[in-house]
Amino acid sequence: MAHSANKSTKSADTLEMTDYFPNEYMESAYSIDYEALYRKGFRGIIFDIDNTLVPHGADCTPRADALFRHLTRIGFKTLLLSNNNAERVERFNRTIGTLAISDASKPATDSFHEAMRQLGTNSGNTLMIGDTIHTDILGANRAGLNSILVKYIGYYDKGRKGLRRKLESAILLFFPLIHRRRRIL
Ligand SMILES: [Mg+2]
Repeated sequence: MAHSANKSTKSADTLEMTDYFPNEYMESAYSIDYEALYRKGFRGIIFDIDNTLVPHGADCTPRADALFRHLTRIGFKTLLLSNNNAERVERFNRTIGTLAISDASKPATDSFHEAMRQLGTNSGNTLMIGDTIHTDILGANRAGLNSILVKYIGYYDKGRKGLRRKLESAILLFFPLIHRRRRIL
């Protein structure tokens, strides 16, 4: 059974430092051991799109198509959860054809609950994968889900790092201290 089945949804006024930490921090959505996650009991995976699966606004790629086919073969249900608009999400999802929610207003928890309703999963067996702490990870934690933060596409292009990314780097300095208690892989 996956962790966090006992986590409950929190409101904004009870935010804690740990709400900003993922369970895992990995190189890429394409280098995760998804079979291991399935063995741990996860059944639904919610993906951010922009800077997680492709560069911001980019079309789908054969690599992304292959990832979703792989996940379906393993037995996962998947859903795209994006703060971007319907045109962008539908364009990305055209060849993948999975569940999708646009204009999600992450980190608001409503869209995470709607995602799990569509997936037919619950907070204990659903995982969020995204590149942004203050939307993907914060929202997942507040909805009681486990999460994996991935390095945003373009991570190694340090020259373009904005303030939010610098804050994320500062938060992640503390990640090794809490990782042991949160790890799911
Ligand atoms: Mg993103």
